[in-house]
Amino acid sequence: MTHYAPIDVHAHYFPQSFLDLIAKHGPSHGFEYKVVDGKGPQFKHGHLLTGPVGPKFVDLDARLEAMDEQGVGVHALSLSQPMVYWADGDLAQGISETYNDALAQAHGRHPKRLVGLATLPMHEPALAVKEVERAARLPGMRGFYIATQIRGKDLSDASFLPVYERIESSGLPLFLHPVEVIGHQRLAAYYLTNLLGNPFESAIAAAHLVFGGVLDRFPKLVVCLPHAGGAFPWLVGRLNRGWEKRADLKHVRHSPLEYLRRFYYDTVGYSDHVLEYLVKVIGADRVLMGSDYCFPIAYEQPVKIVADHPGLDAEAKRKIVEANAYRLLKL
Ligand SMILES: [Zn+2]
Repeated sequence: MTHYAPIDVHAHYFPQSFLDLIAKHGPSHGFEYKVVDGKGPQFKHGHLLTGPVGPKFVDLDARLEAMDEQGVGVHALSLSQPMVYWADGDLAQGISETYNDALAQAHGRHPKRLVGLATLPMHEPALAVKEVERAARLPGMRGFYIATQIRGKDLSDASFLPVYERIESSGLPLFLHPVEVIGHQRLAAYYLTNLLGNPFESAIAAAHLVFGGVLDRFPKLVVCLPHAGGAFPWLVGRLNRGWEKRADLKHVRHSPLEYLRRFYYDTVGYSDHVLEYLVKVIGADRVLMGSDYCFPIAYEQPVKIVADHPGLDAEAKRKIVEANAYRLLKL
């Protein structure tokens, strides 16, 4: 049995070069931007408030220290809101390249501990295709990373098909993450944009990939859902019932139950029962450790929540904490 080191696949990273571009171009693109005294930059775009983005998001030494405290060996680094879809054309491409180059540089500094999930200018699919090809060749790039909707377009939109095709042929997985959420006006109170909006976004995105035929069209495309799949795995009975009863849903090759296993899921569900459900219904080979480093509700001890789980056996825990991610990310 090979032993690796625990890998966190849900770890956000804001390199300084990306923050500099937000500072430079954000205000002319509708951002409210300020630096909070001693806490780093904060920016608001539409309903999305990000930050203050402190050193743990930015500084690689502070990150490695946090990883050591958690017993995490590797971070698969990814962007977060506001992503790059707010910028047009060349600017979006430039920001994506800057971000992905910073991922490669982080990997260069700490090749055994940091790898990257590349950001793509998805709202400009021709540019996204180019960036898939460029980023896939960068050192340490182990996957791609897009939002659950792109400027209001769902992931079944035909304009994204060429991007999925290139991602599939790259052999690297595609990670999703919510940014803009459905019905944000009704979710503005009580932190519900995150607590409810994010998990429903993942469910909507997954349903579009299933019923929109994307998974049928690209049988080797590997898609990872954040936040333990959000609402998606819990609604599969209902999706399945619709597929059984509705003629307009029969065009997909398999039942929604079967598509559950086309996705990977992280452990960010904040409940032993949620993790147990995923392992029972989908299988321990499809669950990956994540933390949401280092947003306010992120796991402080992502390894421990798996290692101390009362209902999972040692083999399942090993797969979730390390083996699945090493296989998937080709480490
Ligand atoms: Zn996250």
